[in-house]
Amino acid sequence: MGFTAADPTRRAISRGNGALPNPMTQKNGAAMDPKLEKTLADFAAGKGRLTVLTGAGISAESGIPTFRGPEGYWTVGSKEYHPQEMATFAMFQRRPEQVWAWYLYRLGVCRKAGPNDGHRALVELEKAFGDRFTLITQNVDALHTRAGNSPKRTFQIHGNIFAMRCAESCRPDIVPIPEAVQGKNRGEALTDDDRRNLRCPACGGWSRPHVLWFDEVYNEEHFRFASSLRVAAETDLLLIVGTAGATNLPNQVAWEVHRRGKTIVDVNIEENPFSRLAMSGKGFFVRAPAASALPVITGKLKAGL
Ligand code: NAD
Repeated sequence: MGFTAADPTRRAISRGNGALPNPMTQKNGAAMDPKLEKTLADFAAGKGRLTVLTGAGISAESGIPTFRGPEGYWTVGSKEYHPQEMATFAMFQRRPEQVWAWYLYRLGVCRKAGPNDGHRALVELEKAFGDRFTLITQNVDALHTRAGNSPKRTFQIHGNIFAMRCAESCRPDIVPIPEAVQGKNRGEALTDDDRRNLRCPACGGWSRPHVLWFDEVYNEEHFRFASSLRVAAETDLLLIVGTAGATNLPNQVAWEVHRRGKTIVDVNIEENPFSRLAMSGKGFFVRAPAASALPVITGKLKAGL
């Protein structure tokens, strides 16, 4: 069965400049690109390390919008803000209540969302590959650990929206946002209870969401910066899923793997800097939604063990 370029269900694995009529689901009889299949089987049969780097795209099919889509915008008063303006310490210092309201809206969305087949496939991969496996995620929705990936091998390099810490760093503790704090609707303000619950219990000042903001830098203590770079330097196969490649540490990880001549497989519904990086080396671009592609890739990797 062939696909036309206009067919929205078209799911092809592309390598180089050629798109192969090669559906990930395999329900219609077509096979995976044999070169990709062999790469996965050879990798699995060896002892090399597998790193998976995920972004907002893997959670899109769980109903959590990515930042690049129209739902990313947020209105404060009469002005529309992009996440890159809202998710900053500078904005938090100016408008802590509005920034918290935005995060509580997103927290509500994340609380309602559940893992999809893409997340579940990565749990299977960790079970199968054990210490050969590391998951580096930019997502703050905690869907990987909620699906069953271990906190030990899951580096949440942009934090966790379910957690908070003192905004003035009076002490290092990271604590869960109290259950009593409700998710917000768009435009809904904080209540007095929220204000109380979002105070730092030690100094009485504001707590802040435990996320890395756009005007902040990575560190090891909160965001596993050095650990991620160490893993990148040991990675033999890097599987990148659903990220636009606009943030710093993921780029460092991908470029390090590429520089060492190791294989990158990029899964995304759109071409992006990582798909081009993958194909400029000995890697692959799998143009497909994560929830369909990852179970197939996981199946091939497990079969090669
Ligand atoms: P992004 O929003 O910039 O890009 C999302 C990428 O996912 C795009 O390349 C898009 O083509 C791809 N995509 C969309 N749907 C997909 C699907 N079904 N399957 C595969 N790919 C799909 O996201 P980003 O690059 O990950 O990161 C930007 C920042 O936003 C990160 O710092 C992250 O912390 C934050 N963020 C997190 C969440 C979350 O936790 N779920 C959601 C939005 C933003």
